[in-house]
Amino acid sequence: MTDRKEWNSWKWQFANRITTAEELDRVLHLSPSEKDNISCCLKNFRMAITPYYASLMDPEDPDCPIRRQAVPSILETVRGEFDLDDPLGEVRYNPVPYVVQRYPDRALLLVTLKCSMYCRHCTRRRVVGENEEFIIPQPALDVALDYIRRHTEIRDVLISGGDPFVLPTDRLEHIISSVRAIEHVEIIRIGTRVPVVMPMRIDKELTDMLRKYHPLWVNTHFNHPKELTPEAVRACEALADAGIPLGNQTVLLKGINDSTPVMKELLLKLVKARVRPYYIFQCDLSVGISHFRVPVQTGIDIMHDLIGNISGYAVPKYAVDAPGGGGKVPLNYNYIVSKDDRELTLETYTGRLYKYPVR
Ligand SMILES: *Cc1c(COP(=O)(O)O)cnc(C)c1O
Ligand code: SF4
Repeated sequence: MTDRKEWNSWKWQFANRITTAEELDRVLHLSPSEKDNISCCLKNFRMAITPYYASLMDPEDPDCPIRRQAVPSILETVRGEFDLDDPLGEVRYNPVPYVVQRYPDRALLLVTLKCSMYCRHCTRRRVVGENEEFIIPQPALDVALDYIRRHTEIRDVLISGGDPFVLPTDRLEHIISSVRAIEHVEIIRIGTRVPVVMPMRIDKELTDMLRKYHPLWVNTHFNHPKELTPEAVRACEALADAGIPLGNQTVLLKGINDSTPVMKELLLKLVKARVRPYYIFQCDLSVGISHFRVPVQTGIDIMHDLIGNISGYAVPKYAVDAPGGGGKVPLNYNYIVSKDDRELTLETYTGRLYKYPVR
């Protein structure tokens, strides 16, 4: 039996992650074939599930939306027709190691390959989890910082990975403060799934450190309303109370959140937790995740159901990351029904048509 103090310690959560089929069997009662399948998947992609996140899984239901994000499926060994090894062309857009720049004014800085939980649908599954000891070494960090320093057009730096919040606070502070010292960097963003999968990490030590480096934004990754537990909500509130604006990036996942009621509940719960839904992403073309992919039209239909029916604050952008690395492309319902020399015909969220002059 774990005591409460251990349970609430992120270091304990991290050290006690479930990483093998045998350990998982103690939580989920797997059939022998499920156990074999998991062991088989683990030859290609790592598994790690925090005891906290595992406690949200339904042990009786293999289709539990929490479980499907965390537990390997044999379908991961299938290479889908459209799968790509480097779906976002990140290798090509690496001007220096650990930096990805695909847009004129912002760059991604990859600081670790480690996460507290390995999402089965991860875009970067090709590299993430490969080496858990890896934290960007000082010489490489110097090269990356130098690149950002020389590129004065970069005003927004996204610190990502892996998950930056799994780093020891002092290591993370070293990285953030070095980026903050670059004069033309206006905002720093951190991408993390820690509030969802290991919310106890959002402790006072972390928020006291982060609040020194404003303007700093955090983007997190909730995919299902069940993930907004009291602990997760508290983590979001602690970040918000430290003055950090919070965004959320959701991945549209088959059987998990590909319906209007589930998506709506998720988005409204996020807003209540002071998190602004930022993106819903179409699943990308990483190898072994084709079973999670939903047709683009489903995403457009869900967006159409949401727009106008719930607060604009709760409605994110729906986008696909163009294969090969072109950048994010918004996928929108077309509200302009027709257009002639004089006027546009516009459709409202309820489907009524209105005319509006072209000029
Ligand atoms: C997503 C992404 C960004 C940020 O894009 P926003 O639309 O500003 O959130 C920046 N660089 C890379 C490489 C990205 O993938
Ligand atoms: S937290 Fe992010 S980087 Fe880590 S496994 Fe999940 S999706 Fe991938």
